[in-house]
Amino acid sequence: MKRIRSDLIIENGTVLTVDENDSIIERGAIAISDGKIVGVDREDAINGKFSAAKRLDAKGGIIMPGLINTHTHLAMSLLRGIADDVSLDSWLKNYIFPLEEQFMNKDSVYVGSLLSCAEMALSGTTTFCDMYFFEKEVGRAAEKIGMRAVIGEGIVASGKNEEQIWQKKKELTTELMKKFNRSELISIGVKPHSPYTCSRKILQEAKKFSKENGLLYVIHLAETEKEFSDFKKSAEMTPTQYLEKLDVLDNSTLAAHCVWMEDGDLDIFKKHEVKISHCPQSNMKLGSGVAPIVKFLREGIVVSLGTDGAASNNTLDMFSEMKTAALLAKVNNHEPQAFSAKEAVRMATIKGAEALRKENEIGSLEVDKKADVIVVGLDKPHLTPIYDYYSHLVYCANGSDVKTSIVNGGVVMSDRKIKNADLADIIKKANFIATKIKKGAPARTT
Ligand SMILES: [Zn+2]
Repeated sequence: MKRIRSDLIIENGTVLTVDENDSIIERGAIAISDGKIVGVDREDAINGKFSAAKRLDAKGGIIMPGLINTHTHLAMSLLRGIADDVSLDSWLKNYIFPLEEQFMNKDSVYVGSLLSCAEMALSGTTTFCDMYFFEKEVGRAAEKIGMRAVIGEGIVASGKNEEQIWQKKKELTTELMKKFNRSELISIGVKPHSPYTCSRKILQEAKKFSKENGLLYVIHLAETEKEFSDFKKSAEMTPTQYLEKLDVLDNSTLAAHCVWMEDGDLDIFKKHEVKISHCPQSNMKLGSGVAPIVKFLREGIVVSLGTDGAASNNTLDMFSEMKTAALLAKVNNHEPQAFSAKEAVRMATIKGAEALRKENEIGSLEVDKKADVIVVGLDKPHLTPIYDYYSHLVYCANGSDVKTSIVNGGVVMSDRKIKNADLADIIKKANFIATKIKKGAPARTT
């Protein structure tokens, strides 16, 4: 029988499909053609059916879907570690907003985004969902490194200039839609920052625009106790009830954080099929609280995983985020079985795809899906021996164990090297910007 030609076969590994049955294929392989997965099977079956222009030896490692980070502010990697040990309110007002005003421009956002894309490619993330300014530059950086992304202008608009700001943001979003219209990697979202930084009218206008254009609606929600109690005081409702009242919640809404939620808020999420981006490390670091993810999962709400910006994390390593998510859920529920390693891996892969409404394209290794694949090496002392793949991925592995990252069938990182850009040059440029930021930054309090 004549074998079907494929572009690439990844072989000699264990394939963790993260499909509906969580199938694991020992001595497995996958075949890739035209950016898509065309075969997932035992190695002998794949080699019997396909020939390959190229082969990649997984060397006994894990072949799995690329990780999906559903909440980022990429360019904030330039502010990594600038202010620790402060509350979200003070962090934003005293550090982040003034520094962004002074130092974040088209060029710095491009460099910061390149830096973050490189960090993600090196730690096994293949897709991210970003909210910031100058998002065209974020899209350019993603395309340069070869990452998949949902980009969108962060919208902060309330008060007397709100209409002007919204018109400008609408224009920018339309520009993004045009610029990346044919991109295989980039899609666009509408991203009002939060219920407390956008007026009622802007939140609704943004929803209308996102619906008209079939775009994801991404928002920070119920992140801190302050936000929660302010809404209780001023509107006599929770932030979630407030958004429901504005009629902006639906199945294309992705809410980040969702820490301060009443039980009734979960019913609202369920009713409107709102998806969540859980950001445990950022919530812990800013002292915001613990999102009730075990409750969310019991209610069947889609929970994905995000790192938030590197300035409040302080890395974009999704392996470390998976571990934190699992440990935090266990300690918060006083119950070790409250949340499993398998659930953490699903949260960082297929649930991320669902949160971005891309579950038919990415998030698992299945025939006809896009070839976003990573290989995790296991030939390390901290990964030896191995009894359970999920357990190792969540509790033992870290981003630097990823040996290869592939997006849309293209290798973006191999043998710990970024393929499509000069990493040393990116680091040099990021450090140059940081020397200027250092001079403008307020003194650290610790
Ligand atoms: Zn955020």
